[in-house]
Amino acid sequence: MTVVDMKSRGATIKISPWQKLKQHFRDAFSEQFEYQRNEDDLTGDGRVARKRGRDAYRYILLLLAFVLTPMFLHDLYIGQTLLSVVTFCLLTILLINIWLLGGDRQAFLSPAPLLALGIGLILLAFGLGQSYSIFWLYPLLAGLPVLLRLRQSLIIGLVCGALALPLIFYQFDSGTAMVLSFSMAITWLVSAWLVFAVTEQSRRLRDMAVTDPLTGAYNRRYLEEQALHAIDALQRDEQPASLLLIDVDFFKRINDKYGHGVGDTAIKKLVEVISGRIRAVDILCRFGGEEFVVLLQGTAIDGALAVAEELRDRVEHARILPEGSVTISIGACEVRAGESVEQWFKYADTGLYLAKRNGRNRVETARQLGERMPVPRTVPEWR
Ligand code: GH3
Ligand code: MG
Ligand code: MG
Repeated sequence: MTVVDMKSRGATIKISPWQKLKQHFRDAFSEQFEYQRNEDDLTGDGRVARKRGRDAYRYILLLLAFVLTPMFLHDLYIGQTLLSVVTFCLLTILLINIWLLGGDRQAFLSPAPLLALGIGLILLAFGLGQSYSIFWLYPLLAGLPVLLRLRQSLIIGLVCGALALPLIFYQFDSGTAMVLSFSMAITWLVSAWLVFAVTEQSRRLRDMAVTDPLTGAYNRRYLEEQALHAIDALQRDEQPASLLLIDVDFFKRINDKYGHGVGDTAIKKLVEVISGRIRAVDILCRFGGEEFVVLLQGTAIDGALAVAEELRDRVEHARILPEGSVTISIGACEVRAGESVEQWFKYADTGLYLAKRNGRNRVETARQLGERMPVPRTVPEWR
């Protein structure tokens, strides 16, 4: 079965469930585990992200070590040789990785297999008859969401806790079982609170940093980030991406005729019209005064032109002004392998220039003109 996004007319993207799952994990881990990227091309922000990624990974390894150490000591105490040896080996791998990361070097095992090994070991102990071993999963499941800042993991913790309850009451007398289940509930509540406090606060700060206050569209900073990601996706997965550079026609006249207040309202309505058409994965950014950029991810130029044409048509027929409508001109451009964000944007800008020159209220693409054409700026400088 494939998931088909019908909204992107002319640019239908098919995503298999497996690709969706891969994307999900990539998104969850990419910000935190930048260390896997090539170190040579990282400067400034990239280095900071890599450092943060290493720190996050180190915390996860520490959490695993905190769980596995008492497990190892317990296995030794009860004379479970096989488990003691396996746990000791895994602990050694963990400690070496923690040491490597602490010294600002690269870990030799990525987080997912290590976590899987840790959880596998706990399940092995469970399979070998140590039914209480399943409780070692709990600090992992409750602590992980805090470290990964994943809200979904809280549900997993809650479900696992609920599943563990019958086991607790079966294994222990009711007094001990009560204490155990209360302590599990408290662990879960504290981690839930931490996750919500941390994610909520960082989400709010992040929103403020990437949003245009007048329209609620994204700002240039966010666009620049996402354009870099799109170029990355093209190089890694050959996933196409296109830009639409949109400028309102004769906006000065609107301001002159109706005043700036009406001009501002028109800008807000325009954002509503455009965001009503594009997909959730597309990014609408207010690029400057009455200039906007739509980044269409996974969309080649044919699809982008179809979307642009529909946007132009919708805006023309929407009631954006108190008495009448406005029109927009659009420059469209698909990014090519090896191109920088600046070059990509420059071609879209050339398209916009052509659209204005050819009479406005139209869509143009200017890739073929390339470098030959001197481009008068129609929009503020890219950076
Ligand atoms: P055209 O693009 O068709 O060439 O003509 P234009 O009149 O739209 O020209 P241009 O895009 O260069 O002008 C942009 C004008 O938009 C300048 C300024 O008066 C107005 N403007 C820019 N930002 C804002 C804003 O935030 N609010 C309002 N009300 N007006 C703005
Ligand atoms: Mg303009
Ligand atoms: Mg304009």
